Amino acid sequence: MSSSVYFGSARQARLVAEETLPAKLDLIIDRLHLRERVKGETVALKIHTGNHIGYSMIHPVFLRKVVQAIREGGGKPFAVDVDWDVAGAETRGYTTEVLGCPIYPSAGLSERHFYAHEHPFKNIKTWKVAGLIEEASFLVNFAHAKGHPACSYGGAFKNLALGCMVGETRGQMHDTVHFDRYWFAERCPDSDTRKRILEACPHNGIVEDKFDPTELHLHFDECNNCGRCLQVAPEGSLKIDAVNFDAFQEAMAISTSITMSTFAPEKMVHLVLATQITPVCDCFGFTSMPVLPDAGIFGSDDIVALDQAVLDVTAKTPLIEENVPTSMEIYSHEGHPLQWLHGTLKDPYKVVEYGAALGLGSREYELVDVLPVEKIAPASLGYISAKSN
Ligand code: SF4
Repeated sequence: MSSSVYFGSARQARLVAEETLPAKLDLIIDRLHLRERVKGETVALKIHTGNHIGYSMIHPVFLRKVVQAIREGGGKPFAVDVDWDVAGAETRGYTTEVLGCPIYPSAGLSERHFYAHEHPFKNIKTWKVAGLIEEASFLVNFAHAKGHPACSYGGAFKNLALGCMVGETRGQMHDTVHFDRYWFAERCPDSDTRKRILEACPHNGIVEDKFDPTELHLHFDECNNCGRCLQVAPEGSLKIDAVNFDAFQEAMAISTSITMSTFAPEKMVHLVLATQITPVCDCFGFTSMPVLPDAGIFGSDDIVALDQAVLDVTAKTPLIEENVPTSMEIYSHEGHPLQWLHGTLKDPYKVVEYGAALGLGSREYELVDVLPVEKIAPASLGYISAKSN
């Protein structure tokens, strides 16, 4: 079954406020009937406030509109993020006064307030959902779309998957990439060859183990799957394989499904702002130049359809290659433009594929433009050529 994804394009016909993204968010809030759905609800607004000197997270103008709508509908909103991002959030403009609601660390000041869920997956047994999120009765998931070094793209899934778990679980999720073996030391006993493997990588994507020099570790965030190391490694000693990269994406889908299982299906709304799409996520604590043009704002009840739509819309525009940091390398133009940047094995669609398989939503969707960009009609006098000087 196809889901509705409401969309406000970043493009506009006229230079008027009504055609800009905050106004289009109002239209999306109306289409999602947010006000009508939150009466008496305790509403967790899951945001990411970034850290340090980042400035590309969702601007408070957007967040305040959501908070206002929740209040108008009779809900009790509070914003949540992980503890180390909430500490200092005011330096990036996120305060109670600005947002219109309190902002809390989702698992308490020391991340001791959580609910454990058993779900064995690779190295993870127990998933710890932040207490304030699980205790809320309604969830608004408002994510910023950007690149991500482990999976190419971070959007609605990532905002819940990483942002609703405590640090211990977040760390375990990142470690899932190491679960399936990729280095077979017995097939490369020679230290000179191991050295050459490390030297083949221009991205510090593969390093020696701190305690055992015969063991090599892949840095999955840095590795862009260029394959240079494989040309040096003896046959069968090293794998650069989708199974490792996909593990993180599957972990994100499982994590999201666990958090979502604590809410009734009709008690969740998902929003994505796809502007200032930087190469890496807002966790890095800084903002770099955008690598994709602003796409707009998206909203849906269906998280799968939503991230699928954001990926499909952003896939139509090429990477702004002149904005790519010089330390990054584009060696392939295969797949989504964010894959060009991060590596062909970091397929951003994987998370929606896993999410759909877990029953979180549909990859089929109808994109409903809430204010299509008007084509301005030519002058009515017939054809008059524009003056060229
Ligand atoms: S595939 Fe390329 S980026 Fe990845 S570790 Fe090997 S050489 Fe480095």
